[in-house]
Amino acid sequence: ANVLIESDKRVDKDRIRMKDKSDHATTENVLDSRIKNKLHKLFEKGILAEINGCISTGKEANVYYAKSKNKAEIAIKIYRTSILTFKNREKYIRGEYRFDHVHSLSNPRKMVKVWAEKEFSNLKRLEQGGVRAPRPILSGGHLLLMEFLGSDGWAAPKLKDAVLTDSKSRILYRECIEIMWKMYNKCRLVHADLSEYNMLYHNGSIIVIDVSQAVDRDHCNAMEFLRNDCNNITAFFKKYDVGVMSLQALFDFITD
Ligand code: ATP
Ligand code: MN
Repeated sequence: ANVLIESDKRVDKDRIRMKDKSDHATTENVLDSRIKNKLHKLFEKGILAEINGCISTGKEANVYYAKSKNKAEIAIKIYRTSILTFKNREKYIRGEYRFDHVHSLSNPRKMVKVWAEKEFSNLKRLEQGGVRAPRPILSGGHLLLMEFLGSDGWAAPKLKDAVLTDSKSRILYRECIEIMWKMYNKCRLVHADLSEYNMLYHNGSIIVIDVSQAVDRDHCNAMEFLRNDCNNITAFFKKYDVGVMSLQALFDFITD
């Protein structure tokens, strides 16, 4: 009898595993066709006229280079729906008034929609607060269209890949502090993933990108996220001869 029970258990376990797998597969497929439909509509409207090339494939999203009917350059960010990335996203959405209405964080399809909307709304805030960032065009489903930043179809380099002289790095350090101050005080945002990986170096200035996880400064973990941002920025500029402020001084400057 024990053997039977054991094998029954195994069957159940396998069934559960299979169900998980097929759920996952169908979700991804549905999303794929939804993305295609969405893109198709954008082509019909002339918002998109061509997509020609992938700028980046990352853990969280893929970014593509596109052009509108009137030749404007566009970056399309398509978010991933894998379960793993959702676990990480939840803490940036919970604890903030803007997302009080979101109850189904365990549903990847809804979650990714919230995530795209969140990045769109954060980019709007940056625009309104005068922080250089890609101008948001639209968000729908799990994609975001924004201004492409680069030249001749080449994306601007990340700050980590920019070649900087000491005097330039000093200027950029000040610029970075100003950006953090403006984000906090004018846009009421904490980036929460600010580093040389999420800033582009374009026409001699810093552009902030990747703000899907940025939170309102009233978010319950905002101070912890801000400290981490200060840490990253300080660590990066320590590599240059800029005479960085102490962490506490930087944090106080932004929040006082
Ligand atoms: P990853 O998992 O790779 O970190 P991500 O979710 O962090 O992806 P982003 O950081 O927003 O996505 O974008 C990935 C990369 O795509 C950026 O590092 C940058 O090189 C490029 N990129 C993003 N937005 C733009 C833009 N508006 N113009 C030009 N390049 C862009
Ligand atoms: Mn990024």
